[in-house]
Amino acid sequence: MAWSIAIHGGAGSMTPATMPEAAQAEHLAALEVARDAGSAILAAGGGALDAVVAAVAVLEDDDKFNAGRGAVFTYHGTTELDAAIMDGATRGAGAVAAATHTRNPVRLARAVMEASPHVLLSGPGADEFSREQGLKQVDPDWFATPERWRQLQELKARKLGWYDVDLKYGTVGAVAVDDAGHVAAATSTGGLTGKRWGRIGDSPLIGAGTYADDRACAVSATGAGEFFIRTAAAHEIGARMRLLGESAQAAADAVIAEIGALGGSGGVIVAAPDGSTAFAFNTPGMYRARADSGGLCEAAIFAEQD
Ligand code: ASP
Repeated sequence: MAWSIAIHGGAGSMTPATMPEAAQAEHLAALEVARDAGSAILAAGGGALDAVVAAVAVLEDDDKFNAGRGAVFTYHGTTELDAAIMDGATRGAGAVAAATHTRNPVRLARAVMEASPHVLLSGPGADEFSREQGLKQVDPDWFATPERWRQLQELKARKLGWYDVDLKYGTVGAVAVDDAGHVAAATSTGGLTGKRWGRIGDSPLIGAGTYADDRACAVSATGAGEFFIRTAAAHEIGARMRLLGESAQAAADAVIAEIGALGGSGGVIVAAPDGSTAFAFNTPGMYRARADSGGLCEAAIFAEQD
């Protein structure tokens, strides 16, 4: 059977004109490292679940992306990390919201799935579970970067709305299908710059920003999370494929169009059990990469690179 993996590092307003070439090269190289961490597992006969965790953990540790190290700041200058994972073979799922000390929130989401009877843990309880599970803990300073601090100050100074700041979007994610035909999805994020009131986005909500079902596909989303929650975007893509027989690309395009019609922006990555993958987004760019057992191996940032 064919394997494949697709990853994203967030959808946003970046264009070839606004993003320096050196930064483009750095982001592409980082995406390739994450993609290759996942594809090495799949090429060796490993499972989709292991592949998506490996890819997302690389992006969490990279401060260029809004997840783990490099996560955006809340309004009060803290970091609250959200993550989710789903196994398409069993439809087992795990997620965390507003975790504050786990170096790799995707691993905490996996622990919730595999070592607790629950699907979604939040806040201090998620932190406590993480310690009990022996996951790597870090001081919150580990997540902080000067660039994210600058973005928070800009948002406050300009009194901008939630979705107005350039490159404010982030989030990382991976979807994969292994050579047994099982799909998996994982998503991890710091959420939105300046978020407050305990705001939780789509990323850790199963069916919104993350979903996997061997009967359809695996999906990870990025963008204006409230719209992905309202459209149950990740589940909707799978449902369209399963019930309407749409291809991964057609289903992803339809749901992104629906989100656009509601006024939302962002993107999704999809992997189907037949080995096909799809990207769809309505922002100027989405950091993304993919590889498969047929030799496909690519990375891109801007829309016109499709
Ligand atoms: N979807 C994420 C959220 O709403 C943010 C993002 O993808 O940039 O938390």
